[in-house]
Amino acid sequence: MQDTRGGAIPSTGAEAFGEALLDRYGRYINPGWARLFRFVGLTSVEWEAEGAIVRDRAGKEYIDCSAGYAVMNMGHRHPRIVAAVEEQLGRLPQSLRLLLDEPVVELAELLARVTPGDLRCSFFCHSGTEAVEAALKLARAYTGKMHVISTHRGFHGKTLGSLAATGSDTYRSVLSPLLVGVSHVPFGDAEAIEAAITPETAAVILEPIQGEAGVIIPPDDYLPRVREICDDRGVLLILDEVQTGMGRTGRLFACEHQGVAPDLMTLAKALGGGVMPVGAVVGRAEIFEKVFDENPFLHTVTQGGSPLAAVAAKAAIEVCLEEDLPGQAAEKGAYLLNRLREMQARFPRVLADVRGRGLLIGLEMTKPGAGGLFVTEVFDRGLIVTPSLNKWDIMRISPPLVIPRDLLDRALEIIEETLEKVDQAIDDL
Ligand code: PLP
Repeated sequence: MQDTRGGAIPSTGAEAFGEALLDRYGRYINPGWARLFRFVGLTSVEWEAEGAIVRDRAGKEYIDCSAGYAVMNMGHRHPRIVAAVEEQLGRLPQSLRLLLDEPVVELAELLARVTPGDLRCSFFCHSGTEAVEAALKLARAYTGKMHVISTHRGFHGKTLGSLAATGSDTYRSVLSPLLVGVSHVPFGDAEAIEAAITPETAAVILEPIQGEAGVIIPPDDYLPRVREICDDRGVLLILDEVQTGMGRTGRLFACEHQGVAPDLMTLAKALGGGVMPVGAVVGRAEIFEKVFDENPFLHTVTQGGSPLAAVAAKAAIEVCLEEDLPGQAAEKGAYLLNRLREMQARFPRVLADVRGRGLLIGLEMTKPGAGGLFVTEVFDRGLIVTPSLNKWDIMRISPPLVIPRDLLDRALEIIEETLEKVDQAIDDL
């Protein structure tokens, strides 16, 4: 094994190397995070990845069933996305913002073509939380109204504006008061949204499927009914597809399952193809026209939608379409869900519920302790799943959409072996 800077690290020293790196994380980045990772025994150091396989510094291989919290939908280092970024890197990675920038226009045109309804204009940034900030500002500036309705347990990011929309006290309590005028209603209940609308309401914001809350799928008539209510009451509908977009749930965007188009859609995570961080809010032209005609600089970020990010995102969308990643997600997701439901029937003391759409799947454990043991045990066996860090009883399975069937089968074997082990230990957890 080679050191990142060329020096050899004996493979027997990999654990000590990981421990030392975790110490430095704790010292220089985030002490609480380092403590948590040490507590659950996650000390492997990531090294390289391709497709749905990740290798650590010691050369151990893992099947990636997390895609880095639903970022690498196209697989790690998809050759076409890497090639697009390398080509741009060799010429002009960043825009001067005073000459015209072709890649960002090409990306915006493509987004206008592939997003539902009459979404046409895009604002680009780097992350999901920034995309939500931009959507909230657009909604306020367009309507002249300042109130927003969001949902309990919805997740929209952690900067101060988006955090106001996020419906979890875990992240909010020590920071309140946040943005005024944001109220939360139960997810899946369209009539609760209708009841919460006032003359001051600018927009409703929600995820088509709540991801961070543990893969919560609303009733099929929820989105169409919310769309109807927003239209009747003159309120904008913002759909946050940061996690569900880019093929993850079996359609390019999850709102397409119900044939609903929002007024503003937020994207990030997999939009950058797992190679570059990119966020976007895509909206109806009249919203952008009104807001930016009045003041073109009302909302800007210096480096958002850089040429590097734009070529990565354009290639990512093209890969999604040409390789039919939504179709792959639908087919592989249905297979996975069936097999996991069989396991739920065998291990009811461990698995309280199995749910999902496409390759966004939630495993709800009967106890947080079962979740903790599950995640470390699958990890030891070479499988990466995503725990909900604040809700250890719900694990997410969200592999790259390109994951081949043999790796899915191996992942299922590991999950089954692990469930057996957790089942034996369940009374003591
Ligand atoms: N919106 C949704 C639906 C998300 O799932 C997330 C992140 O998990 C965000 C927004 C925030 O995105 P980011 O972490 O890129 O800021």
